Amino acid sequence: MPERKVYYFDNNATTRVAPEVVDAMLPLLRDNWGNPSSAYRFGNQAAQLVEKARASVAALLHADPKELVFTSCGTESNNAVLQSALATQPGKRHIITTAVEHSAIMKHGEFLRSQGVEVTFLPVDADGTLDLNLLDQSIRSDTALVSVMWANNETGVLFPVEEIAAICQSRNVPFHTDATQVPGKLEMDVKALGVDFLSLSAHKLHAPKGIGLLYIKRRAKFQPYIVGGHQERGKRGGTENTAGIVAFGRAAELAREHLEEENTRVRALRDRLENTILQTIPNTVRIGPKEPRLPNTSNIAFDFVEAEGILMALDQLGICVSSGSACTTGSLNPSHVLTAMGVKPARAKGCVRFSLGIYNTAEEVDYLLDHLPRVISKLREASPHHGKGRETKTSPELAARTL
Ligand code: PLP
Repeated sequence: MPERKVYYFDNNATTRVAPEVVDAMLPLLRDNWGNPSSAYRFGNQAAQLVEKARASVAALLHADPKELVFTSCGTESNNAVLQSALATQPGKRHIITTAVEHSAIMKHGEFLRSQGVEVTFLPVDADGTLDLNLLDQSIRSDTALVSVMWANNETGVLFPVEEIAAICQSRNVPFHTDATQVPGKLEMDVKALGVDFLSLSAHKLHAPKGIGLLYIKRRAKFQPYIVGGHQERGKRGGTENTAGIVAFGRAAELAREHLEEENTRVRALRDRLENTILQTIPNTVRIGPKEPRLPNTSNIAFDFVEAEGILMALDQLGICVSSGSACTTGSLNPSHVLTAMGVKPARAKGCVRFSLGIYNTAEEVDYLLDHLPRVISKLREASPHHGKGRETKTSPELAARTL
């Protein structure tokens, strides 16, 4: 356990492993540690637990368990689907994605570009929304894949994946969605959505790190990315992370149970946090629209102050928040997501992401709200950008200006 209380508001970076999940996985480490591929009963017991967990994750997605491939993380699932689309359609050398994807897609897209693949990164508007006509127009006869995330990890903005899937289906192009931030927050039904591929990562839903998932629609063309043994019906080599898979299965069951709470209690906490900040701390503005958005995420710009300073000051108080994707923390460049939304660098550098979860309490939000105004005013006093003569605007006025 941590030495002192942690006020954790960074659930889009990772989540606490649920006690029920720890209980479910421990037997796999202590007792049922056999190799699921082994011929004897001891191995077979582990295989059965893996299949039970697969059924639980499939139920979360309304998928057939045979359509699921366990991977090591969301990044692997995303990389695998991009590589497979090119490998299974050798004549097609064009991929469409967006300018606001997680680095697991963005960086792999840039890598593919360096290998001669054409990659279109579709722009977004100030609200973070996509122009679906532009997406449609961007599809070409040599487009191998469209990959668009379901929910943005930095802003919580949701993309209309069902509509995008319909466009792709009508143009006969496979569609992948990175749904890493979605489980437990939105209802997920791969059949209703009409997606061909979907990525998840267990550590975003109260399971441990190091276990991910790729949903592959039945009969969709797929070439394994990790080539080795016959595991995962030949779709991903490597001895299964049995404890991780069983943890994922239990976490998937809990995610379904907590869906209602995320959309009521957690949403209300998020809204109270956001509204209080915007109303009581001058020169603050929400990044992105109020809706459609994940119920747990709020990204707020604190003008005239750098997010790094806020993070460090809050850290002294035991409060964990982030200045965008955890992977970009520490980088001096403003986040690519905020830049793509047209947020000016000076403002983007003062953006903080608050992402709540089912373990957050009203008292924790009170603690954050008690300390934040003082942290911001102290940093502003010390800031060269917050000189005399600057107007102090309340948020609605500020929001009306261009971002
Ligand atoms: N995609 C999104 C939207 C994410 O938020 C993340 C993690 O932050 C990933 C992919 C990568 O997942 P993992 O950490 O399991 O590689």
